Amino acid sequence: MFKEAPGVQIIDPEIKKHITTRNIYKIFNQFIYPQLSSEEYEFLLEVEEFMLTEIEPKIDLTEDVYELFPILGKGNYMQRLNPFGEGKHFGMRYELLLAMATSIVDPELDLARVVSGLIFTNPIFQNRKDNPKMDQILRDVLSGEKIGCICITEPKQGSDAVNMKTIAEEYPTGITVTGEKIFTTNGPKADYFIVYAVTDIKQPRKTMYQAIAERGFEGLETARLGIPAVPRVHIGQTKFNQVHIPPENIIAGRGKGYEHLFSGLVAERGDIVGSSLGVSWLSLITAFLYTNLRVQFGKPIYNFEAVSFPMTELFSELMAATSLGLQMGTEYRKFVEHPEYKFIRYNAALSSGVKTIASKLSHKIAYEAQHLCGGIAYTDNLRMDRALNVSRIQEVIGGSRNIQRFLIGRVLKDMLKKLDWEQI
Ligand SMILES: Cc1cc2nc3c(=O)[nH]c(=O)nc-3n(C[C@H](O)[C@H](O)[C@H](O)COP(=O)(O)OP(=O)(O)OC[C@H]3O[C@@H](n4cnc5c(N)ncnc54)[C@H](O)[C@@H]3O)c2cc1C
Repeated sequence: MFKEAPGVQIIDPEIKKHITTRNIYKIFNQFIYPQLSSEEYEFLLEVEEFMLTEIEPKIDLTEDVYELFPILGKGNYMQRLNPFGEGKHFGMRYELLLAMATSIVDPELDLARVVSGLIFTNPIFQNRKDNPKMDQILRDVLSGEKIGCICITEPKQGSDAVNMKTIAEEYPTGITVTGEKIFTTNGPKADYFIVYAVTDIKQPRKTMYQAIAERGFEGLETARLGIPAVPRVHIGQTKFNQVHIPPENIIAGRGKGYEHLFSGLVAERGDIVGSSLGVSWLSLITAFLYTNLRVQFGKPIYNFEAVSFPMTELFSELMAATSLGLQMGTEYRKFVEHPEYKFIRYNAALSSGVKTIASKLSHKIAYEAQHLCGGIAYTDNLRMDRALNVSRIQEVIGGSRNIQRFLIGRVLKDMLKKLDWEQI
């Protein structure tokens, strides 16, 4: 399914030999270095070397990305948000650097990694790390040997995810989940499924559970959706036909699931920022290299201002978005260390705003960069068309544009409550 035969190489080999991931990293590093601490920069160089030597030689664009997970796991690069295993560099800023470096080498791999490594594991780190079963699940997924996914969206409940229809029935032996989830990234390949379900559809906030179902649990069925933008990632429909989930697999009990749903989305949006920035740097630096090597009318096309000026504008926007993304990474620490209402509220708005800006920008950059290079950028001789395809879905995953606007609008409205209206 979805396998594409690679096309013929028509790119000038003298140009192609310079458009390497190593050269893209070299230029990217010059932009990002001033914004990082020496430890962060050292980490970035380490990740890049790992991607160049361990991941890139194993990438097969006609194969799914999942074969690469155990390699990422060996380097402890399935996530870097929460402390786990070897290494000393953890936190949202490190996670953003990992997402950028991974997206530059393989944007589809990063999409699948973010879901399994970060979005799936973060609720466990935050809430159930003391439990041996959960520790085992973390080890399985972060080694890359097993795959995680998250089941929120339903056929009739997309943006309005809170009013979900998936039912949890409570028993002394755990819960039984019945319902259908869709758009489950990694679902058809997954071993572990974080599912949200409610005991009363009229009171979802008060009755929502968050639990982990496992491949092989009776009544759990998955099927693949056709999502042409990311052919190497499996996105699916996940059916729960009275799937029984034991107590040790319940992350959040009745009502607590609702709190987790929202706090988890902050980390998810944060990481989508990292992936979007990585896709943008991949597209723009590829175009920068190519246009400096491609000659028309007797000179490199970059020397025509109609090519270089739009590109410099895109670089300016991307530099600004990258600074903003890293700043968001710094602010995220406050959200974790001081889970006070004011930080939770602020981070919900910040992550929604930055996610909207970065994901929309990635699409603009990937499209414009492709256009500036001409026909070759539409072939598989460069990675630009793949980057454009991934950029197209960055805005809808983690909640579409309007929903981010809605979340920011709610926080803004809340700010009005702080005013003393009598005085105005
Ligand atoms: C590639 C891909 C991967 C995904 N991965 C996952 C995953 O791993 N797990 C998961 O649970 N989900 C996943 N999703 C689902 C994704 O989060 C949803 O698609 C998204 O939340 C929007 O829901 P919807 O598609 O049902 O759109 P709808 O909710 O039907 O919205 C359609 C349009 O209406 C707008 N709209 C809706 N309500 C309002 C409103 N009140 N005001 C203004 N505009 C509104 C939306 O912004 C959107 O533009 C994925 C989706 C895609 C495409």
